[in-house]
Amino acid sequence: MILFYSVLSFIFGLVLGSFYNVVGLRIPQKIFLSSSRSVCPACNHKLRWFELIPILSYIMQKGKCRHCQRSISPLYPVVEGITAIGFLFSYLHLGLSLDLWITFSLISLFSIVLVADLCFMIIPNSIILCFLPIFMLFRVVQPLEPWWASITGAIAGYSLIALIIVVSRGGMGGGDMKLLGLLGIILGFPSILLAFFMAIVIGLFSSMFLILKNGFKANQKIPFGPAIIAGAIISFLFGDNFMEVYFNLIW
Ligand SMILES: [Zn+2]
Repeated sequence: MILFYSVLSFIFGLVLGSFYNVVGLRIPQKIFLSSSRSVCPACNHKLRWFELIPILSYIMQKGKCRHCQRSISPLYPVVEGITAIGFLFSYLHLGLSLDLWITFSLISLFSIVLVADLCFMIIPNSIILCFLPIFMLFRVVQPLEPWWASITGAIAGYSLIALIIVVSRGGMGGGDMKLLGLLGIILGFPSILLAFFMAIVIGLFSSMFLILKNGFKANQKIPFGPAIIAGAIISFLFGDNFMEVYFNLIW
């Protein structure tokens, strides 16, 4: 049964990851409902079913469009792979539980925001508004201890980045602020602070990586949204372990 659910989680992640690529690319351009069929962004060639198989199509076409031979962004298979491996790992870590569905939705948010923030430097409000009722429902069905930690968590997350925006005069964006507030509902206070700390660490490492790869550009904007959600996922899955290590060091 474990093998069955592992394979199922992986395939579920692949299919949804492929869908999140489309969501993350189309929502910021406000074309989500206008064209239903997927096309090659370079030549507008309508993609057939065998060109839409997650990861496999990319590998078999060697990363190029069958029609115009221009290269396809590696972001597509990367997002599909991250979502699938993330889903598989969460199932193996959590088993069948409500926490598993919470983690699935956190990974989904991560994949969508990764595409939108990397490609357009934006975290659309509609994405935040779509996940808000889902996260609230999770915390009604399975409240934190105490239940109002969700409310203080949301307020703490939102105000923390609001403060940073005021002090740094725009070092972070309004999207990041709403995102950390949203994640505060799931994580609660004080875990949302751990998530933010993780996000800073992840953000620093990925900007170092980007600078090493592309060279330093003054005023280069670095998308922080994906780092915030990655920090939240780590904090959600391993927060207790971190707290334990931390207190063992202190005492
Ligand atoms: Zn093409």
